[in-house]
Amino acid sequence: MRGQPQDFDRVLSSMCTEPHPVAREAAGEFLATNPGDPATYQTVSDLEDEVVAMLGEVAGVDDPAGYVASGGTEANIQAVRMARNRCVTHTPNVVVPESAHFSFKKAADVLGVELRVTPLRDDRRANVGAVERFCDEDTVLVVGVAGSTEYGRVDPIPELAAVASEYGALMHVDAAWGGFVLPFSGHEWSFADASLDTMTIDPHKMGQAAIPAGGLLARDPALFDALAVDTPYLESTSQATLTGTRSGAGVASAHAAMTELWPDGYREEYERQQANADWLADALADAGLDVVEPELPLVAASIDDVAFESLRDAGWRLSRTGNDELRVVCMPHVTREMLESFVADVETVTATVAADGG
Ligand SMILES: *Cc1c(COP(=O)(O)O)cnc(C)c1O
Repeated sequence: MRGQPQDFDRVLSSMCTEPHPVAREAAGEFLATNPGDPATYQTVSDLEDEVVAMLGEVAGVDDPAGYVASGGTEANIQAVRMARNRCVTHTPNVVVPESAHFSFKKAADVLGVELRVTPLRDDRRANVGAVERFCDEDTVLVVGVAGSTEYGRVDPIPELAAVASEYGALMHVDAAWGGFVLPFSGHEWSFADASLDTMTIDPHKMGQAAIPAGGLLARDPALFDALAVDTPYLESTSQATLTGTRSGAGVASAHAAMTELWPDGYREEYERQQANADWLADALADAGLDVVEPELPLVAASIDDVAFESLRDAGWRLSRTGNDELRVVCMPHVTREMLESFVADVETVTATVAADGG
């Protein structure tokens, strides 16, 4: 019997979503193409160039260099690799805020660089003073997060970029999740707002493309030279990606989704999901939970362990922050109706926990 994927009607903590119908269709059509071999698979390679140009439009940079990666993890690893390969020091370090995604730990491990994790401000954003204190002459990269995985916070990107430049380090922004909502939210996060070198921005999260479609952008194409290796048996002569054979499905679906949705479709989605997040934050607070105010469409709230497990048992796909709060990511598949039904269950389980002796 063929397997069936689960449906999305109780998925609340995922940063991925159902692909847009046009993205799903394009992914199917391009399943047998490999942008990793562009001279052979010319059509998908041309589409990839268009995707990079469109990602540049989203991220506020004309004519960036870049490619469609397998995801934010690969893009972040590659950004660290660029910085490491260009540096002269033998003991390079990368300075990240504590809110940085765990992919930077993988990057540091694989690439042999020191990861300096800096404490946050009380508002859960990067603390520029702390970042500056952790930087030295061996710092090759400063990372800012635009839309953090746990709380959807946006770091003070222009200030972090100024610190990076003071130390001669590259500046990378991780907008893997936030990249497709931030153009509409009024934050300073993009190449247009600060002197950034590289950015991670994933079509397969808020961009509504099929997995795998991550994005890595660089303002200066020369940065990719630090990644290029010779490719003797391909028709093309060098390759800067981390993976070899890659899915043309991700490229084509990103192209289809962005052609369909940028900018109006994404704006409408952001407005709908921000309204959902604000509504949910109020509803959970009314239900007696301690809510972390949403800045982007992502809500966290403290909840009793037993109540959390009961919600999971009721089928809600929920995860927790490092502080054990529940986390709801208002992705495109999340509807107000789903959230109403979720809040009703939260009220029931917290009332039961209270009655059982809380
Ligand atoms: C999801 C996420 C990543 C990792 O991306 P994958 O596509 O899961 O590899 C990196 N950074 C941030 C901020 C994310 O939200």
